[in-house]
Amino acid sequence: MSTAFEIDADSIVEPGFYAATVQSVSRLSPNLVRVVFGGSSLRYYAGLDAPDECVTIHFPSSVEATLPPMTLVGGTWGYHDVATRPECRNYTVRTRDDSTVTVDFVLHETGVASSWARSVQPGHSVVLSRPRSWYCCPENTDWQVLVADQTGLPAVARALETRRPGLRTHVILEVLDGADVQELAVDSDVTVEWRIGTGNGLTPSVLPDAVASFDRPDGVGYLWFAGEARSSRLVRSHVRKQWGFTTRQCSVIGYWREKAEEWLASYRRYEAMALAGYRRALREGKTEAQAQEEFEALLERVGL
Ligand SMILES: Cc1cc2nc3c(=O)[nH]c(=O)nc-3n(C[C@H](O)[C@H](O)[C@H](O)COP(=O)(O)OP(=O)(O)OC[C@H]3O[C@@H](n4cnc5c(N)ncnc54)[C@H](O)[C@@H]3O)c2cc1C
Repeated sequence: MSTAFEIDADSIVEPGFYAATVQSVSRLSPNLVRVVFGGSSLRYYAGLDAPDECVTIHFPSSVEATLPPMTLVGGTWGYHDVATRPECRNYTVRTRDDSTVTVDFVLHETGVASSWARSVQPGHSVVLSRPRSWYCCPENTDWQVLVADQTGLPAVARALETRRPGLRTHVILEVLDGADVQELAVDSDVTVEWRIGTGNGLTPSVLPDAVASFDRPDGVGYLWFAGEARSSRLVRSHVRKQWGFTTRQCSVIGYWREKAEEWLASYRRYEAMALAGYRRALREGKTEAQAQEEFEALLERVGL
């Protein structure tokens, strides 16, 4: 049975989905646009405390358009009709309050989300869903290193604002332009290293090398990484093999993928096998991080 449900940009949509109307758009820097979302539905948004809280944003087919109706299939609301299913992408919640959610979009050459952010205006609407997070710095950590390209800048900024007092923190951020450098919440326990003009789809990222040459302090450490997927694999491999970090001591997330279209075409051939391996690992009692490592290892073996 399938029931249509009209999305009213200013009302509550189905559980887990939040209609969001653009309240303001501002250009933060050459490659970043800040969008503040509002609307009565966001009063019910159940966010997460983690600094890398992210939401899936469902985009209409053009900025002015509204999203197609959601349907209820097998007891679950969603965009089940593949013919009209909207494109969706993951974005970090930079800040939020009782009725707004703020997101910083990187502007890159092509892409549904980037193009939307380039031309969006107040009054346009999207739907948010699935708040999730990965940052999980264990209580007994003495120091952490936060590493990201421009896509991870919102999460790093939030991590510094919510940092446990006394937690020594080193930050490595790679941005395209000197003007993309932001003022961050730092004190004497925080050091920040900006890498300017590399990575971010322009050149190979310097982040894997920066992690490899990071002079680790004594004590128990934690690493959080967000950036291009291939760089994330190099970083994960380094901290697991060279630093001897356990999966609990690192959260390494590929936020986007260079030449995503080409990669996806090849991935389709191995998707079923890779996902089956991931689910098997979870059934065997492995953690999500361990299952993810096995998934990545399989893709690496087939050249992806
Ligand atoms: C948990 C999580 C949180 C994220 N938070 C943020 C955030 O706060 N801000 C943010 O801007 N992004 C964030 N991202 C990354 C964002 O989801 C991706 O960059 C996404 O692919 C952009 O979608 P698109 O439709 O613009 O481009 P796509 O349609 O996905 O890709 C189109 C083309 O652009 C390229 N491309 C995609 N992203 C980039 C990029 N960043 N730089 C250069 N080339 C790119 C692809 O290789 C592809 O060739 C996050 C990702 C995750 C997983």
